Amino acid sequence: MKRSNTQDIADEAKKLAIASATAQYTQIFLRQMRTTAAPAPTNCKLCNNKDHTLETCPIENKFRFAQDNTKCLICLKTKSHCHRSCRSIKFVENLCEKDECDTNGLIHNKFICPQNCPPIATPMKKAAKN
Ligand SMILES: [Zn+2]
Ligand SMILES: [Zn+2]
Ligand SMILES: [Zn+2]
Repeated sequence: MKRSNTQDIADEAKKLAIASATAQYTQIFLRQMRTTAAPAPTNCKLCNNKDHTLETCPIENKFRFAQDNTKCLICLKTKSHCHRSCRSIKFVENLCEKDECDTNGLIHNKFICPQNCPPIATPMKKAAKN
């Protein structure tokens, strides 16, 4: 049973085809990896709207909104953890560093800082003085 040359060539061709197909798949796979690794269009972390980011969120009182929706005040994800154990606490640049806020003991994301909210936020205190 001697294999013919043509059979050998066919086998060789098959091997090459598989090899090149594998290479092609690898290429596609790598390309997909790269696409998934690329930064996804950022939704607003607070209200999950795709039209804007947290920084440009039109919600007036973001701090209140986050509290009302039981979101973590640091990472703004649905609160399943104490804000002190929030992993985002490591990213200090996202934390509010205002002195006025520190006294409240509520560590929060600087983008939802109540100090940045319009003064309507505390009408009760002003009314109580009169
Ligand atoms: Zn928003
Ligand atoms: Zn968190
Ligand atoms: Zn603040």
